Amino acid sequence: MSLANGPHTLAIPGPSMVPERVLRAMHRPSPNIYHGPLIDLTHSLIPDLKAVARTEHDATIYIGNGHAAWEAVLANTHSRGDRVLVPRTGSFADGWAEMARGLGLDVEMLDFGNRDPIDAAAVGERLRADKGHEIRSVLVVHVDTSSSIRSDIAAIRREIDAAGHPALLQVDCMASMACDRFEMDEWGADTAIVGCQKGLMTPPGVCFVFYNDRASKARERADCVTGYWDWVPRTNPEIYFRYFNGTGPTHHLYGLREALDMIVHEEGIENVWARHARIASAIHAAFEAWEAGNDAAMELNVRDPAVRSHAVTAIRLPERATELRNWVESKMGVTLGIGVGMAAPDTPDWHGFFRIGHMGHVSGQSILGTLATIDTGLKALGIPHGPGALDRASQALAA
Ligand SMILES: *Cc1c(COP(=O)(O)O)cnc(C)c1O
Repeated sequence: MSLANGPHTLAIPGPSMVPERVLRAMHRPSPNIYHGPLIDLTHSLIPDLKAVARTEHDATIYIGNGHAAWEAVLANTHSRGDRVLVPRTGSFADGWAEMARGLGLDVEMLDFGNRDPIDAAAVGERLRADKGHEIRSVLVVHVDTSSSIRSDIAAIRREIDAAGHPALLQVDCMASMACDRFEMDEWGADTAIVGCQKGLMTPPGVCFVFYNDRASKARERADCVTGYWDWVPRTNPEIYFRYFNGTGPTHHLYGLREALDMIVHEEGIENVWARHARIASAIHAAFEAWEAGNDAAMELNVRDPAVRSHAVTAIRLPERATELRNWVESKMGVTLGIGVGMAAPDTPDWHGFFRIGHMGHVSGQSILGTLATIDTGLKALGIPHGPGALDRASQALAA
């Protein structure tokens, strides 16, 4: 029998659940794009986006997904042949590196595996060895969505400064922004990028690049930039259509306005971070109980609790993760994320990983539903697990 009919929960790491309010805000006829309310609404997004990224610097909006933001930020800051250093903690760094190679950049990877954060000291050491300052940027994924590792951006900045190195610190906040604390200016990120479909709770389609004066300076010599991606005319434009270099993503703008109202003006970004932290603590508590069973093979991918993301959790469940995912989806109405980057697709090992997305529109009750559903699936399928997980999760939420 299936119990999946009724409300469905999408617990994948993006796109995340879109609040009913955001959907309703988007459900309207096409607006006038030459004058009227849409123009003011668009202007109003910029300060709120900056409040989410915690920056006083510039923000640009592009129609596109995270890959578009990756390309946008690199195109504006680099010339062909530039060297970039990419510390790696999972497969999203590989994706960004690939994009950089496509633009003709010379990419150097520093691999930290799939289970540990970036060792900032190792980045510093590499930069100190770069006496000629050939490395132009350090490209860092704040939270790697495949491994669910969060790296310490401020520590990497300190190492870059201690090395006396001029490289830009460019940060991918696709998974982390509006979930895990991120402080662009205070932590010294020169750029930050995010898409709208994760912590920002809006259907995929627009992305954002935040950049400071050092990044603006790099733009002056960047020869990768092309007309469409150039952030200069898009930033604080006098003519409306320059925001988007053409027709704006009209309905997304309404959705985003509603989502930013919720995040910035109603809950407040600090409270949004606190909610995600508390919810993540319940997930971690549940998994610690499940993995404590005598023959439980299930395991949180990130061993050190201090560096586990508050937006996504990667789980190891050798051989049986696909079976569990399929069961909870078809029988209970919860969709969990597939494992990414941990094993090659089409190999038996691929079936040993899954992820829970807990970014954006998640509440105490919704995460308890997801955890209780996983507990039910473990029991239904006879997958070995330790007792007391739901009790631990409740205690974490009640703390
Ligand atoms: C989702 C994600 C991306 C890619 O976003 P797309 O919209 O799928 O292009 C990049 N980096 C991180 C860390 C992500 O989580």
